[in-house]
Parts: sequence; C-alpha cells; structure tokens
Amino acid sequence: MCAAFAAHETGARVLVLERAPEAECGGNSAFTGGATRFAFKNIDEVREVLTLTEEEVANTDFGTYTEEEFLEDMGRMTQYRCDPDLTELFVRNSRQTLAWMKSKGVRFDAMWARQSQKVNGRVKFYAGLICATWGAGQGLVESLHKIAKTLGIAVRYETAATELIRENGRISGVIAEANGETFELRAGAVVLACGGFESNAEMRARYLGPNWDLAKVRGTRFNMGDGIRMALDVGAMPFGHWSGAHAVGWDMNAPPFGEREIGDLFQKHSYLFGIMVNANGERFVDEGADFRNFTYAKYGHEILKQPGMFAWQIFDAKVNHLLRDEYRIRKITKAEAPTLEELVPKLEGVNVERCMKTIRDYNAAVRQDVEFNPVILDGRGTKGLAVPKSNWANVLDTPPFHAYAVSCGITFTFGGIRVSTKAAVQSVAERDIPGLYAAGEMVGGLFYFNYPSGTGLVSGAVFGRIAGSQAASHALTGRN
Ligand SMILES: Cc1cc2nc3c(=O)[nH]c(=O)nc-3n(C[C@H](O)[C@H](O)[C@H](O)COP(=O)(O)OP(=O)(O)OC[C@H]3O[C@@H](n4cnc5c(N)ncnc54)[C@H](O)[C@@H]3O)c2cc1C
Repeated sequence: MCAAFAAHETGARVLVLERAPEAECGGNSAFTGGATRFAFKNIDEVREVLTLTEEEVANTDFGTYTEEEFLEDMGRMTQYRCDPDLTELFVRNSRQTLAWMKSKGVRFDAMWARQSQKVNGRVKFYAGLICATWGAGQGLVESLHKIAKTLGIAVRYETAATELIRENGRISGVIAEANGETFELRAGAVVLACGGFESNAEMRARYLGPNWDLAKVRGTRFNMGDGIRMALDVGAMPFGHWSGAHAVGWDMNAPPFGEREIGDLFQKHSYLFGIMVNANGERFVDEGADFRNFTYAKYGHEILKQPGMFAWQIFDAKVNHLLRDEYRIRKITKAEAPTLEELVPKLEGVNVERCMKTIRDYNAAVRQDVEFNPVILDGRGTKGLAVPKSNWANVLDTPPFHAYAVSCGITFTFGGIRVSTKAAVQSVAERDIPGLYAAGEMVGGLFYFNYPSGTGLVSGAVFGRIAGSQAASHALTGRN
C-alpha cells in the first residue's frame, strides 16, 4: 500500500491486486503488533512520527536511537551479513518514511505496554523500539485501505498475480487469476510486494530444511512465495538468507495459520523472566542473552530443533507483573500449581525427574548478589551452568508456579530477490529488469539468522515507498 501511495503521488494510475478476500486482506501486516523501529536523536524527531501530549513527553524517557545504533543492531543481528547499501538506505529512511505515512493519515502511538516500564515514577523505554501503529496491524491495514479509497486507488480482491508479462526485455504487466479466470493486465511497471514463502509448506521444507514444513504459520495463509517465483521466472537474482526465517515461540496448540482476532497473541515472549525446558526436561537456550527484541526471532528455530519440536516456559509468581499481554488470553496452553513438584508432572511430554533436576540446578546457580532490573541488561545471571542464563535470572520459589507450552511459529522467510537502492529488481546479470520493482519480505539481503524487532513493517514501508515512486516514474517516462 505504501508503494501504491507513492506511485499515486508521483502521478501514476495504480491498481492493487490482493490475492486474499477483502476480509483477509493485508497479509502478515494485519497480524502484527504494529511495532515500528526508527532512528531518532531527540524528542523532536520522535514527534515527527508520534503524536504525544506535553505531559507524556515530560513523564517519559524515550532515550535516543541513532542511525548508527540502528545500523549496528542490524549488523549484530545478522552476523554482519546484511547488505550494507540496502541496510543503510533502510535505516536512514526509517523515520522520514513513517513521517510520510503519518502525513497520509496513518497514526502511530508510543508502544507503552510492550516496550516500557515505570522506573522511579518515570516511564522508560528500552531496546530502541518506541513506536507502534495505532490499533496494531489491523488498525494499520484498515487505515491504509481507507486512505487508498480516499485517493481513488483501486484494489481487486481475490485476484492473484500468477506470472509477469515480459516484452522486449521489459515487464509490461501481469497475468492474473480471479474466479477461475485467467487474464492479462497491462501496466507501465509492476511492483511485487506479496510476501515471502512462509505460508508454503513445500517451499519451507525445500529451502529452510527438515521439519519446517511442520511449523505453525503465525500470519497469513496467502504468502506462498508467488512474487519470488514470478521474479525468478524472469531472471531475477536470488539474494539473502534462503535457508533462514524469522520464527518465534508460539502456542503449541495454535491453529496452522494465524487468526486475525488473535493477531500476534499466540506468541509467548516473556521467556527471559523464567526458564525454557524441552521434552528431556533440559534448558537449551540462554533465555536472558539479550533483550527480547534481539532474541525472540531466532528462538523459534531453536524450539523447532528440540525433540518433539516443543518447549515449556516456566515462571513463578514474582514475575507475573512482567509477563506480556499475550499470557492473559483465553486460548492458551497453560499449567499451574502451588508447588514445582505438582507443576512439573503437568508439563505434557516433559521428563519429570530431569526437569526437577534442571530447576534445582538453575535455582542454585542464580547470582543473587546482583540486583534484578528488567529495563537494563542487569547481569543477574547464573554461575556454572552448561547453558547459562546471562540476565534477569531469578530463583523459581514463589507460588503459584505457571508454565506455557510453545512450538515453532514461523513469521516470514529471509530469502528473496535482489533489488537496487531504487528498489528495482536485478537480474542474475546484476542489471535492473526494466519495469520491475519489489518491496517487503521478498527483498533479500536485509535479514540473516536473526532480526531486530519492529523492522519488517518499516522495511516494507521504506522499500514500498521507493518502489512505488520509481515504478511510477518508469511507467510515465519509460526510463528506470
Ligand atoms: C504474527 C506476526 C507479528 C508480526 N509483528 C510485527 C511487528 O510488530 N512489527 C514488524 O515490523 N513486523 C512484524 N511482523 C512482520 C511483518 O508482518 C512483515 O515483515 C511485513 O508485514 C511484511 O510486509 P509485506 O508487505 O512484505 O507482506 P504482507 O503484509 O504479508 O503482504 C503481502 C500481501 O500480498 C498478497 N499476496 C500474496 N501473493 C499474492 C499474489 N500472487 N497476488 C496478489 N497478492 C498476493 C497477500 O495476500 C498480502 O496481502 C509480524 C508478522 C507476523 C506474522
């Protein structure tokens, strides 16, 4: 939709094809919590995106999150594999793109509930992420579609692009399918923004590896890798981490695809305040390695690798107030008991004896000489465990004890196609394919191994805006 707005602004006539019916439009974007990461140096730059009252400004420490910090987070998360040119373009355009969306009528709010804590009477944000779209992903998609309607941008629902039309080396439209009919749609340029292959079990198994076909899909059922396939068919260059994906701990009994009324709430992201055990009753990751924002997207894969592909997160009552909203929904796989001896046998599939030993060893290893502080990397870890916990370690000793079963939920795939800094799709010969642009999940080269939270939507917006304006210029002038 950002591509559509930008193309419209540049003077082109725009048609959006949406494979989903209207009630399910908006792809993964509609399932998000709306977290949007952008770089800011001071409160004035925060206010370019967020609408805040004077009181909110006075009572809140948003900190700063410079472009350099954002670039460093992208590098650190991706083991410094992210493409430098695309990443820099993305980071340096993050704030102004959101401000541009705001100018179109999209509303952003501070991410109060999920990214801040009250410390000494003042609200403090952490991990560089301060912003979310109003009404989360649903609110975002509703507002984008409302704006499109106002601008006169047509959207054809239940219409899937199936093939690109190429004439004399240029892309001049798509073959589409609706109601069982196939037809041609001619256009001066095409922007592909139809997600990765996360919804496609065959492609997941083929590219991500064994058992990924069994992962639950957190979002839309419509991102089948169509855009990537269509681009490859006309000679686009594959790019990025094709065997990598964003995946999280997701309720073990969640349905195979996302549920819009639940949105992202099947996720269980407060593992850093407890421990996670597998079927053998053993811990398998450092739950407190970093802020949730920098570990959650790779821990889904760690869960997939465990026997039976599940894990239980265990907490005591001391941290109840720190657990995120998703722990208070009705559709949840939860066990609770007044003692650990009663809780552990309730953890379906878990070796009871070994789990009890894991908890005893963990409790004995907690460094109680260091103060617990949830808004900083507090260094309150464990001593002497084979699998350490580096921060936020607390003895599990306060009843009632509670635990949550998770399996792997895939969010989106990292592999895609190569685009230029003008969002033009590049061929295997590293030349722009005239008339073809891409944005969003299908852009390869940004994410490898891991992902800093709140960057998917902004990537879609930044590359969407560039792709839309470049596609419109191409359509109007015939030049790339
Ligand atoms: C549960 C969940 C929570 C998330 N939370 C966040 C978050 O808080 N912040 C964040 O930044 N990111 C988050 N993400 C990631 C984020 O959703 C994606 O990175 C981003 O939305 C991708 O945007 P996109 O435009 O590339 O794809 P999508 O938003 O998925 O849009 C793709 C569209 O293409 C359509 N389509 C597919 N194939 C075709 C075809 N052949 N023809 C026509 N249309 C087609 C689909 O129906 C869909 O409408 C989350 C994802 C999920 C699943």
